[in-house]
Amino acid sequence: MTDNFKVIIVGAGIGGLLASIGLRLDGHDVTILEQASEFGEVGAGMRIPPNSFKLLRRWGIDLTYMKKTYSNGNRFLRWDSGETLADMPHGVPELDFGGSYLMVHRADYHAVLLAKAAELGVVVQGNSRVDSYDFEGPAAILESGEKLQADVLVVADGVQSKAREIFQGHPLPPTDTGDISYRILIPGQDMLSDPELRDLVSQPWVSSWCGAGAHVIGYPIRGGEIYNVVCCASEATMNDQKFAGGESRLLISSNEELVRRFSDWEPRVNKIVSMAGKDFLKWRLFDLDMVDNWVHPSGKAVLLGDAVHPMLPYMASGAAMACEDAAVLRKVLQNVTKDTLATALQKYRQIRQPRASKVQKSGRKLQDAYHLPDGEAQRERDYWIKHDEDENPIFWGNKERRGWLFGYDAEDFQ
Ligand SMILES: Cc1cc2nc3c(=O)[nH]c(=O)nc-3n(C[C@H](O)[C@H](O)[C@H](O)COP(=O)(O)OP(=O)(O)OC[C@H]3O[C@@H](n4cnc5c(N)ncnc54)[C@H](O)[C@@H]3O)c2cc1C
Repeated sequence: MTDNFKVIIVGAGIGGLLASIGLRLDGHDVTILEQASEFGEVGAGMRIPPNSFKLLRRWGIDLTYMKKTYSNGNRFLRWDSGETLADMPHGVPELDFGGSYLMVHRADYHAVLLAKAAELGVVVQGNSRVDSYDFEGPAAILESGEKLQADVLVVADGVQSKAREIFQGHPLPPTDTGDISYRILIPGQDMLSDPELRDLVSQPWVSSWCGAGAHVIGYPIRGGEIYNVVCCASEATMNDQKFAGGESRLLISSNEELVRRFSDWEPRVNKIVSMAGKDFLKWRLFDLDMVDNWVHPSGKAVLLGDAVHPMLPYMASGAAMACEDAAVLRKVLQNVTKDTLATALQKYRQIRQPRASKVQKSGRKLQDAYHLPDGEAQRERDYWIKHDEDENPIFWGNKERRGWLFGYDAEDFQ
């Protein structure tokens, strides 16, 4: 016997939307409550690795007509000379991992998910900030006082989740990693017309320049229409425009601090940051090691996505982990009644927690490996970067680890 549940999802980010699609495909009655009045993603490029791509395809989320770029893999470069240290190709992801590896604009991806949710009959309710919860009900209570009853609550309210600490019974703010990132979009055409920059757009590698306390990542999206750049650095070295209080996102009105920070980096990095112009976003980066309680003690509510496993973006896997969460949640809720719901939700945690935690921790290791100053440790890193072995400090420099991350099928369990 299976019950069709009334599900309320808090948050229409990538995690909340994917959960809504998965659960709706199984016939559950799904409503998403989103605080924003307009739907969409701020930000820039992102990667959709094969472990999430294969789930999207299976669920009928069609990315055929979305502009995208297929990734060659990761290329590591010296920060000062621009010399290529190593190429870590993805090979043929469809054959090796069962899905494509895409580089996309997150707004495009979000729009596809939103359209799919709507097509399936998910109710997406904007202007609906959840103010408090009745987890025994369970119910979500809006700022207006309106109480929305459900059978299951899925809380996907992001890195600054308010629900996370209620689940734990104690405060659990995300950890400030000390790093910040600047996300920049450059017209591909501007780079194609520069002989020095052309290859960065025409050869779809994820290029990573790593230097002391900072790294710069760039890759083409929308088939080369845009070159996406993420400059990451320890906050202590980037203080022209400061975050106020708990602020985690800031609109930057000038690229001066970037130009200065990377002035002694190789000419291509200089050019890229000088093309940043103005009005791009600077983000504070948070993570957590692990969250204990993914399921509320009532047995009727779960956390999903960044709300439960915020991570540094260095594994390019936060949204992919949310996608896997959605797939596991969908599957454990098949053949379940209200009586067996709590057990099913615990199974979701058991499956997801170790993997998400490993990815979180791997992001932290990359923070150290990427930001080494020149010296003995950096020379050792660069030596190992060229070897496809366990000692390679770059997660995907090792075939076995790549297989673990990208070859995973979140629906393949009993
Ligand atoms: C620089 C950078 C690069 C990244 N690159 C990649 C990448 O290449 N690949 C990848 O897989 N991941 C990447 N990530 C991570 C990815 O962006 C996140 O993991 C993912 O977007 C998290 O989705 P989410 O739905 O869990 O949370 P969010 O996207 O934060 O969504 C939460 C939603 O909940 C809403 N909300 C919050 N509180 C309430 C409330 N009380 N009531 C109602 N609504 C509420 C918010 O408005 C928001 O819409 C990157 C992250 C960064 C910072």
